[in-house]
Amino acid sequence: MKKTKIKKIGILTSGGDGPGMNAAVRSVVRSALHYGLKVNGIMKGYEGLIDDETIELNHRSVSNIINRGGTILKTARSKRFMTVEGQKKALRTLKKHRIDGLVVVGGDGSYRGANILYKTWGFPTVGLPGTIDNDLCGTDQTIGCHTAVDTALGAIDKIRDTAQSMERIFVIEVMGRNSGYIAMQVALGAGAEDVVIPEHKFDYQQMYKDMVAGNKKGKISWIVVVAEGAGKANEIAEKITKSTGLETRFVVLGHVQRGGTPTALDRIFATRTGAAAVELLLKGIYGKAVGIVEEKINIVDLSHACSQKKLPVEEYYRLMKILT
Ligand code: ATP
Repeated sequence: MKKTKIKKIGILTSGGDGPGMNAAVRSVVRSALHYGLKVNGIMKGYEGLIDDETIELNHRSVSNIINRGGTILKTARSKRFMTVEGQKKALRTLKKHRIDGLVVVGGDGSYRGANILYKTWGFPTVGLPGTIDNDLCGTDQTIGCHTAVDTALGAIDKIRDTAQSMERIFVIEVMGRNSGYIAMQVALGAGAEDVVIPEHKFDYQQMYKDMVAGNKKGKISWIVVVAEGAGKANEIAEKITKSTGLETRFVVLGHVQRGGTPTALDRIFATRTGAAAVELLLKGIYGKAVGIVEEKINIVDLSHACSQKKLPVEEYYRLMKILT
């Protein structure tokens, strides 16, 4: 490994938490120690950076966390960091603790912050994709996306039992303010009949027609998955009942989707990308995001990683209609 000036790194988790973030923290800390670096953990994302909430991390600080959901560093959304004043305070904390490189684990917003630290202020940063939304470019998956989909799928399987037994329509709201990733995955995985996502204009009139036609043919249940950014489950359920006369219930899955034991895929992904982030800082490569594409570590600019990722929406819709 090429010798560089970096002697101490910081790590923070930011934005929404996701299962696997702890595995990433563990991997970053232990890789850094392996290469002779010191590590500070910054609590509560950019908020902790502004308020100087930092802790020293050693080998044992990250024992027994690879299997735990959430993040031991806590996470937050920080309006203050979006101001120049907030960013200057954050830089003061980094200087005070002699941190010379920062690993930011978070989604597109967190990446924008990390990019500003590097591009505007010249502070070395590297991003790790910590979001359940899988909406970052340059990577096939993100930390937490598999666990979140599995959790939502498990809940929908249970609801399907009732939908089937009670002969009802269910509208199920899953997470995704700007991304339909979780909704599309669980819709296909759960064998749902329809999915409403922010990226696609949804034809409600067609769905009402399909429901009535299906009901006449003896179809007894119908599951509609909706991403939170595309509509409210209660309102959609009400409109379905009004338009079709069929009994409709709604369920909002909410925060259960963020928690829980990370799946094998999320842990392994977090572990591999975490180590790669440290190695990038050691090589003097900054302002980058680490991902995995086709099983290989993939490095892109932070700015590219936050551009809109395209989902194969048409294929999913076509498949769902074929399989309904
Ligand atoms: P998730 O995918 O879970 O929502 P996220 O990282 O996208 O995660 P955000 O709330 O969008 O979550 O961003 C996290 C934090 O990153 C913000 O609270 C803010 O402090 C910082 N941030 C976001 N956008 C910017 C920006 N344009 N400039 C500076 N900082 C930003």
